[in-house]
Amino acid sequence: MPAARQFDVLVIGAGAAGLMCAAGAGRRGRRVALLEHNAQPGRKILISGGGRCNFTNIHCTHANFLSENPHFAKSALALYQPQHFIELVNRYQISWHEKTLGQLFCDQSAHAILNMLLTECELGNVELVLNARNIAVEYSANAGFHIASSRGEFQSAALVIATGGLSIPKLGATGFAYDLARQVGLAVVLPRPALVPLTLGGGQARWMELTGVSTEVTAWAGNSAKHRFREKMLVTHRGLSGPAILQASSYWRPGEPLLVDFAPALAKDADLLATLLEPGAQRTTTALRNALHAVLPQRLAAFLAEVAPPDTWRNAALAACSQRLRSFAFHPTGTEGFEKAEVTAGGVHTDGLFPRTMESRLVSGLFFIGEAVDVTGHLGGFNFQWAWASAVAAARVL
Ligand SMILES: Cc1cc2nc3c(=O)[nH]c(=O)nc-3n(C[C@H](O)[C@H](O)[C@H](O)COP(=O)(O)OP(=O)(O)OC[C@H]3O[C@@H](n4cnc5c(N)ncnc54)[C@H](O)[C@@H]3O)c2cc1C
Repeated sequence: MPAARQFDVLVIGAGAAGLMCAAGAGRRGRRVALLEHNAQPGRKILISGGGRCNFTNIHCTHANFLSENPHFAKSALALYQPQHFIELVNRYQISWHEKTLGQLFCDQSAHAILNMLLTECELGNVELVLNARNIAVEYSANAGFHIASSRGEFQSAALVIATGGLSIPKLGATGFAYDLARQVGLAVVLPRPALVPLTLGGGQARWMELTGVSTEVTAWAGNSAKHRFREKMLVTHRGLSGPAILQASSYWRPGEPLLVDFAPALAKDADLLATLLEPGAQRTTTALRNALHAVLPQRLAAFLAEVAPPDTWRNAALAACSQRLRSFAFHPTGTEGFEKAEVTAGGVHTDGLFPRTMESRLVSGLFFIGEAVDVTGHLGGFNFQWAWASAVAAARVL
C-alpha cells in the first residue's frame, strides 16, 4: 500500500469555489491537491447563465443573500468584491457585458471562466485529481487530515470542503459537506431547493392552460413580504417559473401562499380597474377583460377575468377585485425539487465558522466554502460572487 501523499492543503470539490480557493492557496506557494469525483471540473460553471456564466453582480451586498445569520457573509464579501473578480476576468481578456440589474455575463461562453480558473490553478501548481470517488476523511490533532479515495491516499494539515449543495444531482451534487460537518459536530441548516420553479395543482391546476405565458409581476413569499421581486413570471406545464418566481421561491415554505402583484408598474395603491369606475363606463366582463389587458397579456387578462372576477359590479367589489389581483395568492403544491433548483438554501451553519476565514470553530484547519455553507444568493450572479469571496477568504489564510 503506497504511503499517503503529503500536501499543505487538500481541497475537495473542483467547482467554482474549490477551483478559486485551490488557485489562491497555490499562488501563495502552498502545495495543493484539488480532488473531484467527476471526470471534469466545473461542470456547473459551464451550464451557468444559459452557457454564458453570470459570473458576478456589480450591486452585490450582504442583503442579496439568505442565511440564518444575515451578517455572516459581510466580511468575506467586503474582502473580495465584484470589482476584484472583474479585474481577474479583464486580465484574461474575457469580454463581458451587463445584461440587466447589474448582472455580468461572458460575451462568448462560460468555458472562458472555467479555463481562467484552471490556468490560475496551473500557475499555482495545483494538482487536480479527477475521478476521486468514495472520499473518506479522518482527522487527528497530531497528523491532521487523512483522505482515502479511489485515487489514493492524501495527507494534509488543512482541508477545504467545497462540494457545494444538493442541486442538480446529475452533475455530481452530493451531501458530502453536510455529512462531514455533522461528523465533526457542526450544525447544518436543513438544505432545501431554492431558485426553483413552483408547482401548482388542485384548484389552481387550471393555470397550466396558460403554459408559455409570461408577464412582469412583483412576487413575494407569504412569510416574507419585505423581499419582493419585480421581474418576469412564466407559467409552465407544472406551475410557475421565471425570475420573479425563482427569486421568491428561495423564501417560500411549504403550506404558505406565494403572492403576486399583476400590475407592478402601477403605484402601490392604484386601482387596476380604475377605467370601470369612470362615469358612464360599462361594467361588464368584456370591460373587465379590456381593463386587465391594458397591463397584462391577452390570454392572462381573459383567464383572470374568468377565474378572479369581482363578486358584483359595485364600486366596493371592484376595489376588492383590484386588490386581489395586486396581491394574488397562489397556493403552490411544492417545488420542482433539487433536480431543477439552481441552488441549495441552508447548509453548514455559519455559527460554526469564522466569517473572515471560513475555518471551522471546532476543528482547526477545516474550512467550508461556497454553496455548502448556509449562505444563498439571489438570482443574478450573487451565488458565484459568494463562491469567489468565500474561497478567497479561506485561501488568504491557508
Ligand atoms: C443551471 C444552473 C445555472 C446557474 N447559473 C448561475 C449563474 O449564472 N450565476 C450564479 O451566480 N450562479 C449560478 N448558479 C449557481 C452556481 O452555479 C452555484 O452556486 C456555484 O456553482 C456554487 O459553487 P460551489 O463551488 O460551491 O459548488 P459547485 O459548483 O456545485 O461545485 C461542487 C463540486 O464538488 C464536487 N463534489 C460534490 N460532491 C463530491 C464528493 N462527494 N466528492 C468529490 N467531489 C464532490 C462536484 O462534482 C462539483 O464539481 C447556477 C446553478 C445552476 C444549477
